[in-house]
Amino acid sequence: MYKCKCCSHETLPVPPEDAVAYICPICWWENDVFTADDDEPSDENHGISLNRARKNYIAHGICDPRLKCKDDIHLSTFTPVDKILGDHMPFLVSLKENGENELHIVLSAAVVGENTPDMMEGLTAPVADVVSKYRPILPGNKTIDIRFDNYIMYQVRNESYASPDRTEGKHGKYLSVYAESKLLDYLETVTNVQRCDDGSTYPGPWRHYGIRTQNQTIDVVSHFEPMVTVNENESGEPK
Ligand SMILES: [Zn+2]
Repeated sequence: MYKCKCCSHETLPVPPEDAVAYICPICWWENDVFTADDDEPSDENHGISLNRARKNYIAHGICDPRLKCKDDIHLSTFTPVDKILGDHMPFLVSLKENGENELHIVLSAAVVGENTPDMMEGLTAPVADVVSKYRPILPGNKTIDIRFDNYIMYQVRNESYASPDRTEGKHGKYLSVYAESKLLDYLETVTNVQRCDDGSTYPGPWRHYGIRTQNQTIDVVSHFEPMVTVNENESGEPK
């Protein structure tokens, strides 16, 4: 393991110069390979420089104290499952409403498949040579079942048209929990949820959960933590 450049804990699986977009699970610094020096604001970390993040970590135990729900995020059922998904976006198997505002989402973890002869059919030799180097990404036999018992709102965007929200404080790669986001700002204009001056919230502390799949970008705002279960299906067919 290699040392995180912010908190110095050995949390990087690869050297820092190769750890593109890797988020340290201890200080939440997103390893930034694009900054020239430690005083340059890091786009990956909402404009905080590495030197600033180091000071923040010493003072607050986190690279950016704006990511206030750090402790909550640690408890989130989402983050551990995100690691199970590996390096490829999962596939959406189904998304449906069950009864009263219960949202049920099933994902299939992606696996790297084998090239099949029909992939090469009709291709000229140089093209076939290039294609042969790539492996198809397919839905695997591991499914992730996500159940929101009582959501406040959700949205589904076509992944091709979904624009990233640069303001968000995000943890997780494909399953994320956001400390802040434009969607959360918008929430209070289209629902009657409220954030009072004393910091209390109605109907309870809500969170923005993001799910990125091969073709869909799903956002759910809920004041209940979702139930997440991982199933391994022997047959190889997603349940
Ligand atoms: Zn760290």
